[in-house]
Amino acid sequence: MSEQKVDVAIIGGGIAGLIAANRLAQRGLSSVVLEQGADEQYPCNTRYTGGTFHLCLHNIMTEERALSAEIVALTGGFVEQKLADMLALDGRRSVRWLQDEGIRFMKASGADVHNWVLAPPSRNHPGLDWKGRAGDVLLRRLEANLVPRGGSVVRKTRARALLVDQGRCTGVIADQDGREVHYQSRATIIADGGFQGNPYLVRQYVCHHPERMKQRGAGTGRGDGLQMALAAGAKLVGMETFFGHVMSRDSMTNDKLWPYPYGDALATAGIVVGPAGERFTDEGRGGVYLANHIAKLEDPFSAAIVFDHAIWEGPGRKGFIPANPHLPEVGGTLLRAASLAELATLMQVPAAALAATVRAYNEAIGSSKLASLSPLRTATRYTPLPVAQPPFYALPVCPGITNTMGGIAINEHAQVLREDGSAIPGMYAAGCAAGGLTGGPEIGYVGGLAIAAVTALRAAEHIA
Ligand SMILES: Cc1cc2nc3c(=O)[nH]c(=O)nc-3n(C[C@H](O)[C@H](O)[C@H](O)COP(=O)(O)OP(=O)(O)OC[C@H]3O[C@@H](n4cnc5c(N)ncnc54)[C@H](O)[C@@H]3O)c2cc1C
Repeated sequence: MSEQKVDVAIIGGGIAGLIAANRLAQRGLSSVVLEQGADEQYPCNTRYTGGTFHLCLHNIMTEERALSAEIVALTGGFVEQKLADMLALDGRRSVRWLQDEGIRFMKASGADVHNWVLAPPSRNHPGLDWKGRAGDVLLRRLEANLVPRGGSVVRKTRARALLVDQGRCTGVIADQDGREVHYQSRATIIADGGFQGNPYLVRQYVCHHPERMKQRGAGTGRGDGLQMALAAGAKLVGMETFFGHVMSRDSMTNDKLWPYPYGDALATAGIVVGPAGERFTDEGRGGVYLANHIAKLEDPFSAAIVFDHAIWEGPGRKGFIPANPHLPEVGGTLLRAASLAELATLMQVPAAALAATVRAYNEAIGSSKLASLSPLRTATRYTPLPVAQPPFYALPVCPGITNTMGGIAINEHAQVLREDGSAIPGMYAAGCAAGGLTGGPEIGYVGGLAIAAVTALRAAEHIA
């Protein structure tokens, strides 16, 4: 066993960890970033990210009171007002801070959400494409900035326990390439990226079948920090939900089908049915909501998106790397039939039930009675389109998990909280390791990168 002393120990070298380390260095504090990955360009969700800095899919520079209100409303009050204020206020500041660090942003489309996207963005083709793009460039730049400031990213180092003395966090125990190292520190920041890569924790908190979910990120977040914090008395919050998308079921075996394209645009224009040919969720709530509901089915492999030719040629062609034409081009299964009865046979669902589901849905659109459907269909964010024009299609899907939304409860300084709401001295959480900032019972998607950047800055500044 060896021992080292440092002002701040940081667990995880994603965007949260590297922003925190650089901000601490700017304020004159030494830190070490402990990173389990061995490669120069170790995998993590930041490395694979699409790179869009947004809050609630809005321009991150939107007036902060409006943004804050939107965060609270979208999550049904799950995100507390002071945390919503923190995100709305510091989201824009984090982008400016990153620009000062030499990170380049671009406007990637005319959509409100795409005003601040890391440059250069991913190329417009299916499959994973990260080298020299968005998050990869950001991580390399932040590490390059850190080194001359006296900091370092120590690879092959997996944190496994926190040092706690009389209720105060005093450091981290890590396994470093086969040997144990104790980092004694004034403060510790847990920034290990969530628990989506740990099937036991996903089964415990999220759904029964983690093996039937597509890991659409690096899968490197294994909930180590969460378990360490829990052992030290931390409170966990919002553990049931995850950020993800509705993926082609073939993405489980075909690497050209993840992380893009996904089926959200088709699902929110058409309908999603289960094995009995019936709708089971409100498609109008968006792809993140749908992925969560599909994951909670008895069999997450039993759902399919049903749509018609007009949807395939309309919403199916819109958005970033759309399903049309990319999905069939890279070998994704798309069932196609001249009639709904034929489609039901291909899908192996009862034809009468599918016909009744589509009829009720089409009639509800025609008579503007979507609220009378069961489950009801909201139409505020996505326009429901009839499933009426042959050929008809079905896309067999599975839930794709990018990162868990729940995690360690924090306050507006990113300090880790106990069940009674008091802060644990010396312990902070940032990025996807932290909970209470997105998701909740309404599965309201607030963001990923913006949350990570804001919580990292707040943690570093509070420690300093
Ligand atoms: C394909 C894809 C597209 C995305 N697109 C967007 C987007 O456009 N906009 C957006 O806002 N969000 C997006 N996200 C989500 C966003 O990238 C994440 O929310 C964000 O990168 C999380 O950062 P992080 O620092 O918390 O975690 P990570 O980047 O995952 O970093 C955590 C690090 O901790 C390390 N680690 C884990 N356990 C330990 C341990 N015990 N000891 C030491 N190290 C450990 C891991 O190896 C990893 O390097 C996307 C994600 C993916 C995968």
